[in-house]
Amino acid sequence: MTIAALRRLLDEIDTQGGPDAARQWHLRLDDQPRPAAGQATPTPTPPSTDLRAAIAELLRGGATYPEVREQLGVGSYTTIAQVRHAEGIPVVRRPRPTRSVEETYALYAEPYGDGHARWTGPWAGRMPQIQHPGWRGRKESALRVAFRLEYGREPVGNVRAGCGEPGCVAAAHTTDRDMRKALARPRTRAA
Ligand SMILES: [Zn+2]
Repeated sequence: MTIAALRRLLDEIDTQGGPDAARQWHLRLDDQPRPAAGQATPTPTPPSTDLRAAIAELLRGGATYPEVREQLGVGSYTTIAQVRHAEGIPVVRRPRPTRSVEETYALYAEPYGDGHARWTGPWAGRMPQIQHPGWRGRKESALRVAFRLEYGREPVGNVRAGCGEPGCVAAAHTTDRDMRKALARPRTRAA
């Protein structure tokens, strides 16, 4: 199938119902009892093999529904949801790319104790991580975002919590290399 033919097909599917119709369709679908294991999932309007493959590939790559639409040019949420269910592709938990980094920080930094905050969002190894808005937006340490929020400037060197609380991401507790040097100076002189 050519790209032009695929776009025509997607356009055709799109006219069946936009996001609002898709949402209502899902509400009804969720009210139905789930099919028992081994039984085939009912697919009212099965999309073509090429379209399914294109959607499945994007979903497996971690694309959100709006991103799948953006990549293919067209395509209804209903169709994308059908493919995800049929192929058993899990929903990828990650920051929504439409959120600003500051909004993402506020969403995932959970305050506790004496002004500390724990990270409830995505991690890259042991580093709390925030993704910048947009398709494949760059990823950045949540501590750097917190530092900029608190001090209004880019940090110098690594950002670490200065409170000694393991894993703390509270903006007011972040320190950069310059701040740590300044704090260490009097102690160095005394020693
Ligand atoms: Zn702290």
